[in-house]
Amino acid sequence: MFNSLSDRLSATFKNLRGKGRLTEADVDGTVREIRRALLDADVAVSVAREFAAKVKERALGAEVSEALNPAQQVVKIVNEELQSILGGQTRRLNYAKVGPTIIMLAGLQGAGKTTLAGKLAKSLASEGHTPLLVAADLQRPNAVTQLKVVGERAGVPVYAPHPGVQSDFDELTGDPVVVARNGVSEARQKQHDVVIVDTAGRLGVDAELMKQARDIRDAIRPNEILFVIDAMIGQDAVNTALAFDEGVDFTGVVLSKLDGDARGGAALSVASVTGKPIMFASTGENVNDFEVFHPDRMAGRILD
Ligand code: GDP
Repeated sequence: MFNSLSDRLSATFKNLRGKGRLTEADVDGTVREIRRALLDADVAVSVAREFAAKVKERALGAEVSEALNPAQQVVKIVNEELQSILGGQTRRLNYAKVGPTIIMLAGLQGAGKTTLAGKLAKSLASEGHTPLLVAADLQRPNAVTQLKVVGERAGVPVYAPHPGVQSDFDELTGDPVVVARNGVSEARQKQHDVVIVDTAGRLGVDAELMKQARDIRDAIRPNEILFVIDAMIGQDAVNTALAFDEGVDFTGVVLSKLDGDARGGAALSVASVTGKPIMFASTGENVNDFEVFHPDRMAGRILD
């Protein structure tokens, strides 16, 4: 990911090398190239424009450092702006002070929620936490089974709708709000310190899906609502992210499928338009393909 953006930016910066001072025309030309490179990387138009404007303002401003030549100065500004757009500092999970930390996952169908649930659970377990996975995606016939498989691979127990629990025994007609609530109760009873609730996604954003997600949220009051988004969806990322942000007011973003050949624009756009930090990255189908997202490292990688 970001390879072509990275190449384009370094070519742009190369043109500045050896210049003693940057004229306004130099800055204009550079900023135009940066904007084009962002657009070609699928960054949303409004985000690319705003980014370019900020870089221009700072590059023309009075931030002159003795230690850096003009080209290095521009690289530094772009680095800082990239980092800022990607969420600034690495954002850690917000743990509950009392009782289990409740993490709810939201996103479109196929975004990678269920896969992510297993990865996150495994990662937390390896840090000494005792997570419970809750299968509250009752929309997709296979989702509950899939989460059970994922849980097995992660070595983490799964609370799934099962016979004997009223209104929750039939996974296709059961009520996901009830399942989510029961799952959290189970976590409390069995003293799990983290509970990860997988919820249903649809192929597109729709009002019913959003209401269901909101109802689950209101029933379990999560400490974190992670919005999982497929990095490959490119320009659609902005509208999807805004709809989920408005719908459930998520607290953090997880980028999935970063191992693919996504051009990376989704990452920058989503973080920028929602102002929510990217917290984790999913980088493959395997349960271990998971990373904490570090904005500074990602910015560094883009500008490498
Ligand atoms: P959900 O509908 O949001 O729960 O999405 P799933 O977790 O079922 O993922 C949808 C598909 O994407 C599955 O085939 C996953 O194996 C695949 N997938 C999920 N995360 C990743 C990832 O990070 N990289 C790759 N290459 N595939 C992924």
